[in-house]
Amino acid sequence: MTAPLIRSIAKLRHLVTDWKRSGANIGVVPTMGALHEGHLSLVRAAAATTDRVIVTVFVNPKQFNNPGDLQAYPQTEKEDARKLAPFGVDAIFAPNAAEMYPRGFATTVSVAGVSEGLCGARRAGHFDGVATIVTKLLMQTGADFAFFGNKDYQQLQVVRRLVQDLDIPCKIIGCPTVREGDGLAMSSRNALLSPDERSLAAKLHKALIDAALALERGADVLSVIKRAQAEILAGGFGPVEYLELRDAETLTPISQLDRPARLLAAAYLGNVRLIDNVPLPGKGRA
Ligand code: AMP
Repeated sequence: MTAPLIRSIAKLRHLVTDWKRSGANIGVVPTMGALHEGHLSLVRAAAATTDRVIVTVFVNPKQFNNPGDLQAYPQTEKEDARKLAPFGVDAIFAPNAAEMYPRGFATTVSVAGVSEGLCGARRAGHFDGVATIVTKLLMQTGADFAFFGNKDYQQLQVVRRLVQDLDIPCKIIGCPTVREGDGLAMSSRNALLSPDERSLAAKLHKALIDAALALERGADVLSVIKRAQAEILAGGFGPVEYLELRDAETLTPISQLDRPARLLAAAYLGNVRLIDNVPLPGKGRA
């Protein structure tokens, strides 16, 4: 059965208040729609953890710094509802932009530190947009648990930071990246790749895996990163926007694998910007 589609914050609050009164706990899965198996894995995790599951579908204009990118973003609401039907989702919250940002809206949530560099360096205002909408969604849904993908690792760390700093009583659950058979991380943007580009796209992940193995064997960080960048370019990618080793929690740049770390990359294949990341357990700190 398809879940009730809710457009207004008032209606959502009504529903949530009733659920809370009956003692249910609530999980939320924030998305921008165009759902694929990666999103559905978060829904599956939410359904296994919480009594009530809300999936939010909102293409958030505040996190796009390029109007063309916003306009090109796929909107597939009916198809999304159909894909969610087997999961017993309790509500799909799909407000419009005027409901989320009414006239006079003037507040921005801005997270320092973790939102700097990487995707934050070239996408001005992106993480302010993310932090603002996630804060609103957590308040509106009253969620006890919220589910995010490791695929957008910097975003996940931004959300963890803001929930801690603003004392929002919601546990953030990071879920594994779901990949295609050849290793390409699933993403709504993959549909924009030409067949030729698609055949090359998994090379980004392959280069990250090769680099992670070399780092775990003790190779020098700078030379491994240089080699991985060359491997990505040789694989047919255009510019590599970034490829960096960062502390897994604070995302500060590191030049030695002396703690849990993350290797993160963004690169262009034609006009399509792909991102990916892999974990490195590291030695030393637990
Ligand atoms: P989006 O609709 O792209 O904003 O993504 C909504 C949520 O789905 C975010 O928490 C993403 O990290 C997560 N997500 C996107 N792609 C994947 C994937 N391949 N595997 C796991 N989670 C994903």
